[in-house]
Amino acid sequence: MPELPEVETIVRDLNNKVLGRKIQDIWSDVKKFKVQSLKLKVVGRKIEKIERKGKNILFHLSGGKLLLVHQKMTGHFLCGRWERKKGKWINVEEGFLRDDKMNNFIHLIFWLSDGNMLALSDLRKFAKVAFFDTQKIENIKDIKNLGPDALNVSMADFKKRVLRKNNKDIKQVLMDQETIAGIGNIYADDILWKAAIHPKRKPQFINDNDLKKIFSAMKSILAKSIKKRGTSISDFRDTAGNKGGYGEIRLAYKRKGDPCGRCGVKMERIKIGGRGTCFCPKCQKTGF
Ligand SMILES: [Zn+2]
Repeated sequence: MPELPEVETIVRDLNNKVLGRKIQDIWSDVKKFKVQSLKLKVVGRKIEKIERKGKNILFHLSGGKLLLVHQKMTGHFLCGRWERKKGKWINVEEGFLRDDKMNNFIHLIFWLSDGNMLALSDLRKFAKVAFFDTQKIENIKDIKNLGPDALNVSMADFKKRVLRKNNKDIKQVLMDQETIAGIGNIYADDILWKAAIHPKRKPQFINDNDLKKIFSAMKSILAKSIKKRGTSISDFRDTAGNKGGYGEIRLAYKRKGDPCGRCGVKMERIKIGGRGTCFCPKCQKTGF
């Protein structure tokens, strides 16, 4: 699933490529997007602002309207030009955007006033698209329950919020969007490895010094991944269809059997909340 660095990469791209354009038409083959009614709502509107809230993308449209997209498991936006051939949308340009199969699950297209297209490639079709009045932004469930963004949260607020979840595993606390917004499975594993904290430690047994280590690991890892344009170990691509470079330098995520980058001991894998979790059994002590 795209996490904070991947969604941030997409939002920065979109701000360069589609801001100020008008939406001229829409197509989709996903029933839940209700494309006919969506068309009536968005066609003719200008994209005035694009921002990220947690893992959500918000398109602010002219006339005080808002289009919220959550890319969920496998969704990613692409900018380019597609043609319908044999029942499939094919990118007209040569190269990776067309050749990489992860960019070929096109299920939603916006035609824009500059002649370009904005498309959503979504292998598993779990993405969410919803339309709102901008005024009601504070009432949108996906937004109002979000904790502060992981990039912006202060140490004091981070500590207060994490300690509220005293008896949960720290990995689950980091991934809880109501505690802190933006972190998922990839970055939770890497943050805890860097801070040398076992993913099953409970916040009540993590001292101030270790909480600070988690906090600074969170800030530095997210910043580094944004710089590398995210992680593409599974399906994530940027709006040009390119892979991000963080996967190659990741610290713990999906590193089972690899030597720990700190001590050389073989990394192990356990499940936490149903999610695969990799950690170093030597560096990352349980400590209760
Ligand atoms: Zn180690």
